[in-house]
Amino acid sequence: EKLGLNEIRRRFTEFFRTKDHYIAKSHSLIPSNDKSLLLINSGMAPLKNYFSGVETPPKKRMSTVQKCIRTGDIDNVGVTARHATFFEMMGNFSFGDYFKKEAITWAWEFITEWLEIPEDKVWVTVYESDDEAYDLWKNMIGFPEERIVRLGKEDNFWEIGLGPCGPCSEIYFDKGEKYGCGCEDCKPGCDCDRFLEFWNLVFTQFDKQEDGSYGDLENKNIDTGMGLERMACIMQDVDNIFEVDTIQSVLKKVTEIANIEYGKDSVTDKSVRIVTDHIRSVAFMIGDGILPSNEGRGYVLRRLLRRAARHGKLLGIEGPFLNQLLDIVIETCGEAYPELVEKESYIRKVIGIEEEKFAETLQQGLDILHSYTEEVKKEGNNMISGEQAFKLYDTYGFPLDLTKEILMDEGLTLDEEGFTKEMQMQKERARAARGNREGDAWKEDPLTLLDDAKSKFDGYHDLEKNAKIK
Ligand code: ATP
Ligand code: MG
Ligand code: MG
Ligand code: MG
Repeated sequence: EKLGLNEIRRRFTEFFRTKDHYIAKSHSLIPSNDKSLLLINSGMAPLKNYFSGVETPPKKRMSTVQKCIRTGDIDNVGVTARHATFFEMMGNFSFGDYFKKEAITWAWEFITEWLEIPEDKVWVTVYESDDEAYDLWKNMIGFPEERIVRLGKEDNFWEIGLGPCGPCSEIYFDKGEKYGCGCEDCKPGCDCDRFLEFWNLVFTQFDKQEDGSYGDLENKNIDTGMGLERMACIMQDVDNIFEVDTIQSVLKKVTEIANIEYGKDSVTDKSVRIVTDHIRSVAFMIGDGILPSNEGRGYVLRRLLRRAARHGKLLGIEGPFLNQLLDIVIETCGEAYPELVEKESYIRKVIGIEEEKFAETLQQGLDILHSYTEEVKKEGNNMISGEQAFKLYDTYGFPLDLTKEILMDEGLTLDEEGFTKEMQMQKERARAARGNREGDAWKEDPLTLLDDAKSKFDGYHDLEKNAKIK
């Protein structure tokens, strides 16, 4: 009997409860009081103020399972076996309480005793000069040295700008030689699919100074993050996060609606995975109060939703279909994230409106884009103009990345500088048209289309408030 994703999440939480951690709910995907971040992308991100000491945590030991969005990974989705734009990060945290010894001991105990992962399949990495972590793995755990790899800053040192930072130790699962790159000394850090990184233990022990030196941090912290979907891959013995139980249910629905068979054609499969991934992000983002718009978070949402819609069309799906997938997302994630269930009708409405809005112009836009590319090719060029890309954006609702993606499939590009210029000009025109009146920025926003949904959703004011923080 394979462990389901929901069961793995429960076990993680239970484990850290036995280690005396305060168990907190996932924070919203919208960062609060943090202008440096568009969307929550790790377990520690919403806890930053506890790490910096600005706020006092409810307890010095905490554990969460955090909803995360990483749009930076969007091009990996459907391509690598391990990346999603939406995923859950399980983490345990120490704010000046325990440090490396406990973090490593518990990580090992959880994966080998609570999940019973075969020890010989596990590899670990440490930061190249972190002898302390190396020694703990080797002597305290008794971990074989052949499978401890020292890696450099890029992989195993966590820092953003100045302030608290430190080395990491990461835990990998060896999927087997057949996934390797065939190099002589295949190990974590190799650019192949053999070693799956699943847990990152960050030892925040330094305080980076203005002059570039690293001072010792008075209160050392622990921040760990384990991808739930990746752990589910390991526990369910599947190759790819899209084959994990909960995600696979969504994927199956995509193939059912499109009436195709998965695993027959690599191009089709990639589209299936993109749709599967993006609808999950879309559902959670709207559930947390993000609305489609042309800026900030709203733009990320719009881009994901429209990209999903377009790939659905590539699969031959006619008419709106995203809400049928929403059903499955809620079925599989609703228990752990009741907000999805509570806001179901609202999420449905937002998806419906946005999908319809895009559908109205999608075919036309595709036709126009086709005419552009034909023209460009005939001229022996490989780039469409900024003006053309902007027209697709402005009149046909094509997010820039979508246009880029379609062009790329044909080996073409677009003039991004020209696009930015057009965008700037349009903003100025809009500003001039508005005169000096403030607060009209939301005029043509989907909010106006949502009047109907408004009356049905109690949390509307919160949503509006959140959506305005950009
Ligand atoms: P990778 O090198 O595979 O891109 P990462 O080093 O960027 O992962 P971390 O920032 O260390 O990832 O995040 C901690 C953990 O979160 C990872 O070990 C992994 O289990 C999980 N994780 C990170 N990015 C993703 C993603 N896009 N999809 C699913 N899980 C992820
Ligand atoms: Mg990454
Ligand atoms: Mg990594
Ligand atoms: Mg990592």
